[in-house]
Amino acid sequence: MDAYSGQMTRLIQQLSQLPGIGQKTAQRLAFYIISMPEDRVESLSSAIIGAKQKIRLCSCCGNLSDSELCPICADPDRDKRTIMVVETPRDLAAYEKTQKYTGVYHVLHGAIDPQRGIGPSDIRLKELMSRLQGDVDEVIIATNSTLEGETTAMYISRLVKQAGIKVSRIASGVPVGGDLENIDEVTLLRALNGRVEL
Ligand code: ZN
Repeated sequence: MDAYSGQMTRLIQQLSQLPGIGQKTAQRLAFYIISMPEDRVESLSSAIIGAKQKIRLCSCCGNLSDSELCPICADPDRDKRTIMVVETPRDLAAYEKTQKYTGVYHVLHGAIDPQRGIGPSDIRLKELMSRLQGDVDEVIIATNSTLEGETTAMYISRLVKQAGIKVSRIASGVPVGGDLENIDEVTLLRALNGRVEL
């Protein structure tokens, strides 16, 4: 017989489907949630639903945003002539944490991966190319150091060079296969400052 009521089992089961949450953690979270005051549970669930319903992609850079433009693109103090290309909004967040990068971003939402049938038209490359029609001084490629990230970097650098724009690659400091999110800010900053022109 199931030790928990149907509702409790349902909650544990839903939580355990989240990444990194095993059965035990799901149980712990479920017990915590039912011990919370009702208004806190309501604000937690409305935060989840609100995020899902309201968050969309910034029409300029592809970052997650509550409005047409994300806070970075909307900031008049950001240097719009320098664009850093990253794979995911999480990578963007990692560079933002350094608080030293003053340019803007372009989020690809993926990387070219022929093995899995992901080609150049499956990531936000077309959007990047149309941004390059404007005034852009430099494109910094900060895709991951994985095979897919390198393939993507090579592909983009060719296109950007053809457009007559300076292109550089974040080089030293970011380990091969390194997930940008798990790298500390000092390392990221060193990588950014040590970028090499392609
Ligand atoms: Zn944006």
